[in-house]
Amino acid sequence: MQEKILVIEDETKIARFLELELNHEGYMVEIAHDGREGYEKAKAENFDLIILDLMLPGLSGIEVCRRLRRESDVAIIMLTAKDDIMDKVMGLDSGADDYVTKPFAIEELLARIRVVLKRKGKKELHSHILRAGDLTLFKDEYRVTYKDEEISLSKKEFELLKYLMENKGIVLTREKILDHVWGYDYFGDTNVTDVYIRYLRNKIDQKFAVQFIHTIRGVGYMFKENEK
Ligand code: CA
Repeated sequence: MQEKILVIEDETKIARFLELELNHEGYMVEIAHDGREGYEKAKAENFDLIILDLMLPGLSGIEVCRRLRRESDVAIIMLTAKDDIMDKVMGLDSGADDYVTKPFAIEELLARIRVVLKRKGKKELHSHILRAGDLTLFKDEYRVTYKDEEISLSKKEFELLKYLMENKGIVLTREKILDHVWGYDYFGDTNVTDVYIRYLRNKIDQKFAVQFIHTIRGVGYMFKENEK
């Protein structure tokens, strides 16, 4: 699959140069010319990596980085204008994964991109964030969003959704769901799973006109990435 990179750089020449080089390497590239536009783009679409210039009009690179970090763990490589140690420290402090000093050799930047993407790919496995299309679940924060919208879930609904998302593409029986989400000490009816599945469908599938939760007749349920 082609990886998608967002370049946030106000110097048109450099932005154009990066676009050509990155395209040539097989990446899909989008450009933003100021901090605010870049931040909006980064929020609106899923990118694998962001190349972020430090000195930007609108919002500074540091500010863009800080804001993005509050809501995503997308890979960020910062471009610092000079070989200034303060810039680097600030860049990494604000959550950038790496930085490259201008002027840079394109080979160096490409090498860093590969390293950061690889590292992120591995981390994703143990990530605290689960994603399916535009649906995002933040495990540690008990938060779920669809695009930018918060979805308010009860604790059990959240646990159920987490279990479903962790087992994307796998059929889960009612018993399995019950054991996992309600625990072995639950003596109630297995129908409780159906009730909670219905709650989730109301709050997600129906609300956003998508289909994540599929009924497997006579067996149970399966979570699938929305294919619409
Ligand atoms: Ca700049």
